[in-house]
Amino acid sequence: MKTFLAAAFIVMAGSLTISAQHAAPISGREGGSQHVAPLPHCVDGPNDIAMLPHWEEGSTDVALLPHWEEGPRDIAMLPNSEACPKSATTFSSSDADPKSTSLLPNREDGSEDVALLPRWEEGFLDIHTIATGRGDACLIIMPDGTTMMIDAGDNGKAKDKQHPDGSMKPGEWQARYMRHFMEGLPGGGALDYAMVTHLHDDHIGSVRDTLPGRDGYALSGITLVGSLIHFDKLVDRGWPDYDFPSREKVLAADRGFIEHYFRFIEHQRSLGMVAEKFENGSRKQFAMKYDPKPYARDFEIRNLASNGEMWTGKGMKTRKMYSGDINLFDENMNSCAIRLRYGKFSYYNGGDLSGGNLDMPSYPSKERDFESQIAGVCGPVTVMKANHHGYYDTCNGYFLQTLSPEVIVIDARSNNHPVPSTFTRITDPQVWRGDREYYITVDQARGKLGEELWSKFKPWGHIVIRVYPGGGSYRIFVLDADSTDYHIIYQTELRELK
Ligand SMILES: [Zn+2]
Repeated sequence: MKTFLAAAFIVMAGSLTISAQHAAPISGREGGSQHVAPLPHCVDGPNDIAMLPHWEEGSTDVALLPHWEEGPRDIAMLPNSEACPKSATTFSSSDADPKSTSLLPNREDGSEDVALLPRWEEGFLDIHTIATGRGDACLIIMPDGTTMMIDAGDNGKAKDKQHPDGSMKPGEWQARYMRHFMEGLPGGGALDYAMVTHLHDDHIGSVRDTLPGRDGYALSGITLVGSLIHFDKLVDRGWPDYDFPSREKVLAADRGFIEHYFRFIEHQRSLGMVAEKFENGSRKQFAMKYDPKPYARDFEIRNLASNGEMWTGKGMKTRKMYSGDINLFDENMNSCAIRLRYGKFSYYNGGDLSGGNLDMPSYPSKERDFESQIAGVCGPVTVMKANHHGYYDTCNGYFLQTLSPEVIVIDARSNNHPVPSTFTRITDPQVWRGDREYYITVDQARGKLGEELWSKFKPWGHIVIRVYPGGGSYRIFVLDADSTDYHIIYQTELRELK
């Protein structure tokens, strides 16, 4: 460890020197107009891109996004991972046991050592829930390095406190986070899959909070992330017709922004992105791309449900989850749901699906309980992302008991995430049995929940589930959502799965 620290310190000193040499501001691009460089792939880029070589305390080469309020919109791009070798401050855990974390020397300001998440390695499955306080965003790094983003939301509501701060848009923060943790992966900086659970602003972006785009669409949420990181394939519930349950309902789901989202997809398709409709029952739509063979028996992502239909558990057979008027359903009910499995580990993400009217009798449809139907076909999981941010209509007792998660993750963006009644149900041993822990991305609900309920959560922030090779053990890390070095503020011991 001593040797390691010394090495890290030397590299840091080197970085500081380089930083000083490259401290010139980012120059404007041709015409000086406000635009975003869309190239995520590392190519021989334009000469006017300024690279900021290193973080202050960080472990990787990263291009920093300029502040959006000031100056031109030019975005510095990440270098090609082949062209630009990894920084020497690579934190590896391959030569250490998984309990170790990477320590950096004291910060310049004299504050304490910080620990960073050890770099992803082949065989690891990482599931990051990214905290911005404005909408969902999840990054999955599969055991062969294939990457998948689930949602990139920005609800555009100033009352919902943004993390780490408002100097950049949520989409820019989400892109920055993903670039940081995707550095060196086989995709060369691109996302292999972008999955959209449903078409609400807190999952795809809002017209209330945009940057101007130069390709015929405004940049917010997923269109902003997609202008900074190339998506190889985008999968949502509606492509290409977007007419379920009707065109009007789709357009109303994120009024004013959906058209930008459509134009984004068409433009990205012209650049090579593949768009697909979410296929219920499939276990091939989100397959590993780079080296799937060693993991073929242990790893799969199964598409459970979308558009009111669910997998039956047999082959590719599906069935409807409702019998009445589909127009009574809101967009949440159409969410795409997946179950990921890696060895003994499993994970559920179902967007904003509902578990019934529960404490929310004002919903028009009585057929809102999709959770109870999906529960059986999903089965027990290790980690469950709470549906609909833990709002009134989710996490019914049957669903909780059937999934029996050891870990519940709430991706929050409001003081109603979760609401006290739902979180009481989630935490009540009378409602369901089983040891479990609770994680949340932001603390907006703290006041409404009260300290007794709030204290059941682990420290809030970016939540990283790291599953080790073979899928037999995992750890959870919480990273500081208000920092730009993503240092660890909480971590569990290594857990072996039974
Ligand atoms: Zn939502």
